[in-house]
Amino acid sequence: MRVRFWGTRGSIPVAMSSAEVQRKLVTALVAAAGRGLDTPGKARAFVERELDFSVSHTFGGNSSCVELETGDEDYTLCDVGSGARVFGNHVLATRGPAGHRFHVFMSHLHWDHIMGFPFFMPAYLPGNRIRIYGCHVQLEQAFRRQHAAPSFPVEFDQLGADIEFIVLQPGQPCEVGAMTVRTMLQQHSGDSYGYRFEHGGKSLVYTTDSEHRPEDFAQSEAFIAFFHRADLVIFDAMYSLADAVSVKADWGHSSNIVGVELCQLAQVRHLCLFHHEPALDDAALAKMLEETRRYEEITRTGNAVHVSAAYDGLEITL
Ligand SMILES: [Zn+2]
Ligand SMILES: [Zn+2]
Repeated sequence: MRVRFWGTRGSIPVAMSSAEVQRKLVTALVAAAGRGLDTPGKARAFVERELDFSVSHTFGGNSSCVELETGDEDYTLCDVGSGARVFGNHVLATRGPAGHRFHVFMSHLHWDHIMGFPFFMPAYLPGNRIRIYGCHVQLEQAFRRQHAAPSFPVEFDQLGADIEFIVLQPGQPCEVGAMTVRTMLQQHSGDSYGYRFEHGGKSLVYTTDSEHRPEDFAQSEAFIAFFHRADLVIFDAMYSLADAVSVKADWGHSSNIVGVELCQLAQVRHLCLFHHEPALDDAALAKMLEETRRYEEITRTGNAVHVSAAYDGLEITL
């Protein structure tokens, strides 16, 4: 399985500010002083090898959208936040306008997770088939509502693709192609659901918009079982632990620290921090990643959990 991130920001898409672009340029130019970077090749090599990620890249601004590639012809997505716009355009540019099949698994129906759908071009084109899965009974209604006047100019019924909604029974596994999909109820305003995907001996958990209460042992046990020995867990790490247990308790999100603890107990191979807080810039997210890796190291009792932070464009092969 390969995972590709098209949108990684929580709650609302963000763009880098001019001030942040300038800060990166100044840092890069000072680092490059006297290095004789007089060709694009030399400059590119310097950027790729010598600058910190937070200077040479950005964690990206689109809201949640993650693609799972299984080697199958069909496309599989988790959520259709604003990253779905970029994904849809990529499909049309590389594989043509029609004849595509998409399976979309919805964590929940908050706006940041559905807002990319009206800009998902394959939905407008006849000859495409889109199946949208989720555990909320309002699944279809939420998609139709954001297309309705006065919020959007194109009604849902005008979309050209064949679109079907499939309401899943929470806790009951389903098969999509050669993939087994399990769901898990999560603590979040209006409920959200985590997904565990298994394919070809590899497993991936997508768990976003999920609040964990470390004092709730039954909840922790259930998640440790759900994450058990997963190759990758994509985890809602919107807050720091201090925020998650104090000011932002009950806001429906989790922290990097809780992510590490659950993944260590579940013997997960790779934890990927996801649904980044919109107020955090690249330097702050890089610092959070560094601190999370350090925390994982000093609390480790068994195998190491590799820790990364998702960014728009990141690919992970399981
Ligand atoms: Zn969200
Ligand atoms: Zn939410």
